[in-house]
Amino acid sequence: MADPLNGVYKARQSPRVVVSRTPSGARPGRANSALSLRFERIATGRTASRQGPRYWRPEEIDSGVAPPRVPWRRYAGGNWTGVRLMRIVMIGAGYVGLVSGACLADFGHEVVCVEVDESKVASLREGRVPIYEPGLSELVLANQAAGRLTFTTSLKAAGRGANAIFIAVGTPSLAEIGSADMRFVHDAARDIAGVIEDFTVVVVKSTVPIGAGDEVERIIAERAPRDRFAVVSNPEFLREGAAIEDFKRPDRVVIGVEDDRAREVMREIYQPIESNGGPIVYTSRRSSEMIKYAANVFLAMKVTFINEIADLCERLGADVLDVSHGIGLDDRIGRRFLNPGPGFGGSCFPKDTLALTKLAADAKAPIRLVETLVDVNDKRKTAMAAKIVAACGGSVAGKRIAVLGLTYKPKTDDMRDAPSLVIVPELQAAGARVVAYDPEGLRTAKPLLPGVEFADNAYACLKGADAAVVVTEWDEFRALDLARVKASLAAPIMVDLRNIYPIKAMKALGFRYVCVGRGFGGEG
Ligand code: NAD
Repeated sequence: MADPLNGVYKARQSPRVVVSRTPSGARPGRANSALSLRFERIATGRTASRQGPRYWRPEEIDSGVAPPRVPWRRYAGGNWTGVRLMRIVMIGAGYVGLVSGACLADFGHEVVCVEVDESKVASLREGRVPIYEPGLSELVLANQAAGRLTFTTSLKAAGRGANAIFIAVGTPSLAEIGSADMRFVHDAARDIAGVIEDFTVVVVKSTVPIGAGDEVERIIAERAPRDRFAVVSNPEFLREGAAIEDFKRPDRVVIGVEDDRAREVMREIYQPIESNGGPIVYTSRRSSEMIKYAANVFLAMKVTFINEIADLCERLGADVLDVSHGIGLDDRIGRRFLNPGPGFGGSCFPKDTLALTKLAADAKAPIRLVETLVDVNDKRKTAMAAKIVAACGGSVAGKRIAVLGLTYKPKTDDMRDAPSLVIVPELQAAGARVVAYDPEGLRTAKPLLPGVEFADNAYACLKGADAAVVVTEWDEFRALDLARVKASLAAPIMVDLRNIYPIKAMKALGFRYVCVGRGFGGEG
């Protein structure tokens, strides 16, 4: 059966199917979704042509010659005219903005990514994607080539005639305070206010505190008429490493909207996902903002819970992998996010858990459970360094420790709040010489880990080391020749903080194998 998500993209390449109509009054639903994906060229103001729609070139967008959109025509003469192509602006071309922009372009929409970082824009225009995310380069290149995806530094030009402007800028933790730094979101809101002409939907995709949409609305309303825009919350749930799949086939899309016109625009934007059976949750703006925090914090709690159970397993001689399997089979608990490790990191969980505790404290409804998990997770990273020292006989002074994996998880080059950023300096402080290797993260890790020697591959990293430590579970580490690993090491000590190797095989090979939560002291 045709896949409507890719069907959009394929259909867009064929001039003959660009405009089509279904019988009078027919409305596409799930049953006939693949057939009902039709396109209406007039939606974005492009000139009709038998060669297909004309998208705007980057220089036309920069110079502002891209004309404003033509008014929509949803039902023509009582006939359904199908999915409307939207003109979308994405502010911020980081992980979320770039993935979302490329996927929305792949659905057939016309997307302009606006990014303040000129070097990012220059590199993207040359077809070089500045982050590592599987499949992203190919998606960006294909949609750039088709003219649906462009990059600019100028919102002024790009914003003209947009149906929707997404805000996908960072919301990092404010130092010392812990709440989300809303500076970039507010700057974007001010910029947007300067470009609004016709009714425009402002979509907050960044993870923001509950009530932030109200503030964005207030900022824009200071400069633009209230009836020309509506602010919508549409948090993103993609996981780095699987971001494209997560965006195109999400567990759900959450849309916090209180304006009917904005709701229609959002429905059109996500029509390909809805047609494919993807659940769309419509709710209030504040509930939508809360869903994002509650989801992330719940997942962080699951990770922290199994980490603590793992510690207890080590004390009592149980195997945490069997325990997580045994509890995960219960539907009410679920199997995912029950893998013990060195503590969660990354671009979201640490800052979002912290931001929610701050938000809750300010609202005089402190969530002690979350406060505790933040504390437990912080301490865990230091505890992992101590675990490595213990595995090395109580001291790493003068020892060469080979660290495999630096990114906060596999299939990304993201180093934000990676456990390695605590573990490696702790080992160095204890006198270790650290040599490290990561399949994709070396470029991003190098500036963050002074004094570390970096290797080009896993075996070079392990050569002559007094112990090996797996910090990130890249597939290539699972596939290492363990006999060769042992032969490369000066001492056969493997500390596996991700439980990727079979205990029996490691013991048979003569390793001192220390993992997490598997038998007394994590030694099987
Ligand atoms: P990021 O730092 O990778 O990207 C943000 C980009 O926005 C940067 O390239 C920055 O230069 C640009 N920017 C900042 N201000 C700008 C402005 N005024 N105009 C144009 N560009 C501007 O951040 P990210 O990881 O993509 O996260 C963005 C938001 O999405 C955050 O709120 C984050 O919590 C949320 N989120 C992230 C993920 C993830 O896995 N990374 C997942 C879900 C949600």
